[in-house]
Amino acid sequence: MFQKIAVIGAGTMGNGIAHVFAQNGYPVHLIDVNADQLVKALQTIQKNMDRQVSKGSLTADEKLAAYERIGTFSTIEEGVHGVQLVVEAATENEPVKLKIFQELDRLAPADAILASNTSSISITRIASVTKRPQQVIGMHFMNPVPVMRLVEIINGYATDAATSDAIVALTKKINKVPCVVNDYPGFIANRILMPMINEAICSVYEGVAGVEAIDTIMKLGMAHPMGPLQLADFIGLDVCHSILSVLHQGFGNPKYAPCPLLGNMVAAGKLGVKTGEGFYTYPTGSKDLLVSDRFL
Ligand code: NAD
Repeated sequence: MFQKIAVIGAGTMGNGIAHVFAQNGYPVHLIDVNADQLVKALQTIQKNMDRQVSKGSLTADEKLAAYERIGTFSTIEEGVHGVQLVVEAATENEPVKLKIFQELDRLAPADAILASNTSSISITRIASVTKRPQQVIGMHFMNPVPVMRLVEIINGYATDAATSDAIVALTKKINKVPCVVNDYPGFIANRILMPMINEAICSVYEGVAGVEAIDTIMKLGMAHPMGPLQLADFIGLDVCHSILSVLHQGFGNPKYAPCPLLGNMVAAGKLGVKTGEGFYTYPTGSKDLLVSDRFL
């Protein structure tokens, strides 16, 4: 049913989503308002595909064919022509997404499914700005997309079974594992992950233990591949803060209130890996995990 797929947003997630569809044989239209971002995304896809070739999980010919399936576009109007599916992976900002979905509803073929990769924004609210809410769904990939096998599929209040079934089947075709959930704040992945991260941050805030001890306890004691504080740095502390705020507002339950320390770190611009400092520091070129001076 899917012959051509558009991906909106060529950032961290969009380039990975385009990579995976192209690698599995689907022509992809990658759309971004920022031309530099499109150039960067193609470079990242090349680099990641080269790594797969060097590891033997992709042949050089397969890589070339996959890469050539990706075309880039700077407007939705050009990019959604003739597609059966759009996966939106633009900035996590509700007004931005609502505007994109209004435009998509107007410009994408009437039978196209419109999916969002949002981490936390209500699929039902996104669908409500379109005239096809039955064809709107959440397709929540995990970072890094070419590596992580889960896709959390979120049925909005109005999503119909045909849409959900088609996205489940597509997810299996691209060699990922679908898990279908309903549309409530944080869905499942972030509803469970974010309170754990918040509790780890509160444990630092209250002086219960240090950064290294908390992460080591969760790695060695619970077999987590990464401690919650390192994971928070990797996700971005601003992203963690905004998802916790969605949970807090959406459920009206104080148990989801972001820890004051998290709020302070975001206000101070210490956002984790992307700014070079969060609970750890990330000096360029260093492969060691170094706890930030602030928490020593
Ligand atoms: P990002 O900031 O890296 O990329 C977003 C891209 O969207 C940018 O390149 C920007 O230029 C583009 N964009 C913004 N407005 C646009 C518009 N109107 N039309 C076209 N392009 C537009 O963000 P990201 O981390 O890739 O996140 C994208 C989405 O994926 C968000 O909804 C986020 O919540 C979700 N998500 C992120 C992660 C993660 O770990 N980063 C994981 C799962 C889901």
